[in-house]
Amino acid sequence: MNKAVASAPAKVNLAFKVGPLADDGYHEVASAYLGLNLRDRVSVSIDTEWSVSVGGSLSEQQLSMVPLDESNLTIQAIKKLAGWANLDSFPPLRVDIEKHIPVAGGMAGGSADAAAALVAANELLGCRLTASQLQKFSVEIGSDVPFALRGGFALGTGRGENLSPLPLGQSVHLVFVIDEQGLSTKAVYQQLDSLRGSAQIEQPTLSQTFLAAAAGESAAELAANIVNELQPVAISLRPSLADTIRIGLEMQALNGFVSGSGPTVAFICADADSAVQLQQQFQRLGHTAVVATDSPTGARIEAS
Ligand code: ATP
Repeated sequence: MNKAVASAPAKVNLAFKVGPLADDGYHEVASAYLGLNLRDRVSVSIDTEWSVSVGGSLSEQQLSMVPLDESNLTIQAIKKLAGWANLDSFPPLRVDIEKHIPVAGGMAGGSADAAAALVAANELLGCRLTASQLQKFSVEIGSDVPFALRGGFALGTGRGENLSPLPLGQSVHLVFVIDEQGLSTKAVYQQLDSLRGSAQIEQPTLSQTFLAAAAGESAAELAANIVNELQPVAISLRPSLADTIRIGLEMQALNGFVSGSGPTVAFICADADSAVQLQQQFQRLGHTAVVATDSPTGARIEAS
């Protein structure tokens, strides 16, 4: 075997609470991660030198924001994997990424690519790390990588890496309106800290009302209980996001909110048909919009 292919899901946070800035520079979070049927695919093959290529359904502008050098999260992930598996030597690898998850969009596209690269390289290089070992180690690459490996609907605490499954009582029909420009997660957290100033911040937890709404069958209930503490921060950095949310609400979305650190805006719709209608309305206004729904599937090997 000289090639392995894997895919991994995008995420949206249906609830996201952020605790105080800790001494290590990170924030403790409480996140309700929802894995989506929107996936990136990563192919890893043995070659004579290291390389990364990127293609897929995103615009040229979006694709150009993905680094092609060793700072690409897939390369960082594979090199870490080799260390965790105590591989003394391994051949140079070629990584081909097929991207469908918006770049720097608050949907953890880079983390999904890292997760897919881990699963593919684990197979290709015969590392034999178990799924739970990969999940445990992968937080070293990024806070969202453990969830991209696992998928489904889960509570994430700590930096988001301590995962436990949550009950989901319904299919979630979503439309994502993509902002071509991207927003740096780091910049959003810095702005959060400066807006909070010296205010006393509580430890983050998800409310019982949110958890009951997610476990229930009413899309309207779930929509009404979505919370994202990064939303006002993302809007302060990109005021046009407030207009996008308003437009979607006028078009009958049940609710609109910023996905993670933004700038992608997510809308919850009553059913699959209304999601497609909303997507088309946004497209007529010149936006890039994609429909997605919840998916239980984490990172997995694909036929090559
Ligand atoms: P999160 O929601 O986890 O904060 P995000 O979805 O906002 O992340 P990503 O798409 O993961 O953002 O990309 C963040 C940055 O990471 C990009 O601007 C890019 O420079 C860098 N990056 C490194 N590797 C990748 C990759 N494989 N795909 C996308 N971005 C990558």
